[in-house]
Amino acid sequence: MTDIKTIVKAWITASNPSTQDITKAEERLSTCYECPELKKLASIEYCSKCLCPINKKVFSEQPTCPLGKWKQ
Ligand code: SF4
Repeated sequence: MTDIKTIVKAWITASNPSTQDITKAEERLSTCYECPELKKLASIEYCSKCLCPINKKVFSEQPTCPLGKWKQ
């Protein structure tokens, strides 16, 4: 389970990402889009393993994929 500090920090980073943050997020997103755990509810894409919205989760400082699929 991802702790609240990590989640809040990811949301803050997502609101004003650096070029490096965007590159990392895009790489993570490409992994998520090939993962069967990525689900969609209305227009919100989320990880069914942790229930986090994926467009924010990919901006976490450390890799937080519950299945360890992210390289960075
Ligand atoms: S965070 Fe990991 S488990 Fe969740 S959708 Fe992305 S690749 Fe799949």
